[in-house]
Amino acid sequence: MKKLAGFFIATILLLSSCSSVPLTGRKQILLVSDQEVLTSSLTQYGDFMKTAAKSTNKAQTDMVVRVGKKIAAATESYLKANGMESEIKNFSWEFNLVKSDEANAFCMPGGKIVVYEGILPYIANDTELAVVLGHEVAHAVAKHANERMSQQLLAQGGSAILGQVVGGASATVQTVAGTVYGLGAEYAVMLPFSRKHEYEADHMGLIFMGMAGYDPRASISFWTKMAQGKTSAPPEIMSTHPSDANRIAELEKYMPDALRYYKK
Ligand SMILES: [Zn+2]
Repeated sequence: MKKLAGFFIATILLLSSCSSVPLTGRKQILLVSDQEVLTSSLTQYGDFMKTAAKSTNKAQTDMVVRVGKKIAAATESYLKANGMESEIKNFSWEFNLVKSDEANAFCMPGGKIVVYEGILPYIANDTELAVVLGHEVAHAVAKHANERMSQQLLAQGGSAILGQVVGGASATVQTVAGTVYGLGAEYAVMLPFSRKHEYEADHMGLIFMGMAGYDPRASISFWTKMAQGKTSAPPEIMSTHPSDANRIAELEKYMPDALRYYKK
């Protein structure tokens, strides 16, 4: 009987925690409160930034901040204008450029975005940088980290979820957050997003960059360059291996949608 009650509570919980991703409308299950996701991720982001070497190139750092802020502002005003401002409640955008030869970038919940210097050789101008930053902003807005954490909690079974969500005990969330962010990785907070999340971030990223006035078609040239220069270790934004050809094909598919939002 107790088990059955647990099952019903779990079902109700799952139904009530089902939300949809802005713009794509995809249904997702978010079991962890935004507050808990933010608390756990801000600690890890802070730890990362403490040890990371910030870029000393002022022009490039300014470029990352300038393009990032523009995309974040356009995204925010769109969400506000469409009654979705709660999606980014408690967000506080930060855009950093750090020293590393890796062609990489990542985003943590709440809008904390880090770009590695190693990706800059593939970037000719603000518009191509907007491809990367739009993608990372999209991961944050779509709450992919929360979804990953929720998937792991689900995998741990119903009772764990109940303890977690109802009791709000932070220990398990912390553990799960640790797995999601790949703690222990040598130099990186690595979010192993699924291919589905990568494609969704690409799709939304094109729209966000377009809203900020950057031509989404630059994504094709950027990803072509990235594919040609790929080293043995694929960067996060390619880490779940949509093959390059597939990725570019998907981008082409999203393009008409993205161009509707493109403000010249
Ligand atoms: Zn990504």
